[in-house]
Amino acid sequence: MANCFLCSSYLPKGEGVRAKVVTGEKSGRSYPFLGLGRFYTTTLKALRTICPKCAEKIEAKNKKNRQWWINVCVTILFSLIAFLLLLFLWNLIFVDNKNAGFVTKAKNVSK
Ligand SMILES: [Zn+2]
Repeated sequence: MANCFLCSSYLPKGEGVRAKVVTGEKSGRSYPFLGLGRFYTTTLKALRTICPKCAEKIEAKNKKNRQWWINVCVTILFSLIAFLLLLFLWNLIFVDNKNAGFVTKAKNVSK
């Protein structure tokens, strides 16, 4: 007889799913080279048999997490592109203007 590790519901033979789940927590004090060190806490994960329902839940959570990271990356990328575009436009507008723009000023110094 097997039970789900997370919700402990009964699993008929062949129904269980093997998945990495959080099984515990470990905390202690690390001692780097000299110094007092500092406390750390890590979650321990291990392969356990769980029911398909719990496996679905974990998968959904992972997917949400991945989506969040993708959103962050896309936002950073777009703001970088916007910044470069702004810089490009700034140069395009002020590069031939003798009174404004740091590019023009730098050119005048080298003469
Ligand atoms: Zn379960």
